[in-house]
Amino acid sequence: MEIAAVHVVEAPDFGPPDYDEADVRRESWWTDLRVANPMSRYPRYEAVRADWLPDFRDFGVVVEAADGTLGYAPGRHGAPVAALVDDYLGERIAGEDAMATEKVHDMLERLCAPFGAGGIASYAVSAIDLALWDLKGNLLDRPVYELLGGPATDALDCYATGNDTDWHLELGFDATKLACPFGPADGKEGLLGNVDLVAESRELLGDAGELMLDCWMAFDEAYTVRLANRLREYDLRWMEETLWPKDLDAHRRVRDRVPFQTLATGEHWYTAAPFQHAATHDLVDVFQPDIHWVGGLTTVQKIASIAESAGKSAVLHCGGHTPYGQHASYGLPGIRWTEYPVTSPPGVALADAETRPGVAVPEDGELVPNDAPGFGVEFDPGRLDAFSY
Ligand SMILES: [Mg+2]
Repeated sequence: MEIAAVHVVEAPDFGPPDYDEADVRRESWWTDLRVANPMSRYPRYEAVRADWLPDFRDFGVVVEAADGTLGYAPGRHGAPVAALVDDYLGERIAGEDAMATEKVHDMLERLCAPFGAGGIASYAVSAIDLALWDLKGNLLDRPVYELLGGPATDALDCYATGNDTDWHLELGFDATKLACPFGPADGKEGLLGNVDLVAESRELLGDAGELMLDCWMAFDEAYTVRLANRLREYDLRWMEETLWPKDLDAHRRVRDRVPFQTLATGEHWYTAAPFQHAATHDLVDVFQPDIHWVGGLTTVQKIASIAESAGKSAVLHCGGHTPYGQHASYGLPGIRWTEYPVTSPPGVALADAETRPGVAVPEDGELVPNDAPGFGVEFDPGRLDAFSY
């Protein structure tokens, strides 16, 4: 079965969640929390990421087979990524075998070689790859996790992400990850603020719960080492993405300077290559590729294999947030834990806050993906309107 066409379409609008406002106890941490970030050193942008992050419109990628069967995946970062798919990559893979996910993925990465397969290009490759896997599942009438070999576990064990630790505990999670509010630009006072936040969360969780700290590229080597030493007594399961992702030498030095602290990173690494480098040079312990950013499911399979071969673990960035991450985590035994970001307000049941089709939500910290064909995203064939950019 050939690939007939690749379409760039308007993203479906699932509308706002229709939960009862009376359930809301307080605003979510997500609304306006200060999060240390790479722009924190510039006062005009220091506190809130929404002040500088791009507001490109999301879109969708549809791969159509010769018999009219469709596969769908969401696309991120709007016009720049949509143009790569629409004006270049899509037409280059038309006519290829729709089952040949490895070959087509290899073609996509090589087609991006003249301008680099990372960054923006990696979002384009990811969307096409995931739409192709969805198509493959739809053609075979099987869920994608079965195409990967079948379920690797009975249910995905999830940790919550966000700074509403009390609410996460109430929802039944026994593991939670905090967003770090302060970075080097906030001085000693900020450092102590970070310590206080971790101390309070550990107190709420007790000794049995797992606690992680996400530092979103905001630190440098010295600050990471200093904070890690101050936090040692709180037994963090890991410190995440403390460094600028491209500074691989700093990752090596931090690994040596805080040997007691498990380190995780990878959501802003693109293609499998940095993960292979990290395995070879023992940069971190936990690899965290994002399936929608790193190059799709085909790349995630490679990274999970690298992690297993190197004695590392792989935990997808926001893997519990989409059916794509859920199916990959369910089917690949190299992925042993699932991140579920909680951005809805405390008091609102997770199922009441979710409007997207095919997205399973955790109950008591566990979830089982949908078992529909493909990724189970139910793309409406009447919605092939071209994305305008
Ligand atoms: Mg992170």
